[in-house]
Amino acid sequence: MSTIFKKIIDKEIPANIVYEDEDFLAFNDINPQAKVHVLVIPKKEIRNLDAATEEDALLLGRLQLVIAKIARQLGIAEEGYRVITNINGNGGQEVFHIHYHILGGEKLPVTLK
Ligand code: 5GP
Repeated sequence: MSTIFKKIIDKEIPANIVYEDEDFLAFNDINPQAKVHVLVIPKKEIRNLDAATEEDALLLGRLQLVIAKIARQLGIAEEGYRVITNINGNGGQEVFHIHYHILGGEKLPVTLK
């Protein structure tokens, strides 16, 4: 089932887009948890990492390289950043279109609790 991120891909609702190519889109999170908080998504609708298959291997590998490229473009790579993907309930996933959070622009807390 499609999510709000599909509407962002299709430009049916606005987002502050920081990167786009044929297969991927990145935009600022509406509720930032760090000075820099960008979401990176493949345009292909995959529910989450648990739903990904071998068929998605190349796409997901390229996604990681795109994340690194975006972080460099944002100017946060040298100082460092964190990449998170949440999966299902215990992972805190709210939007069921696979996405990776890029968090940075400041020193991040090390622990979850
Ligand atoms: P999740 O908890 O699923 O890993 O993360 C979903 C993220 O999407 C949250 O950080 C939330 O703030 C963000 N988000 C939800 N709806 C929208 C939206 O309409 N626009 C943008 N830019 N971010 C959204």
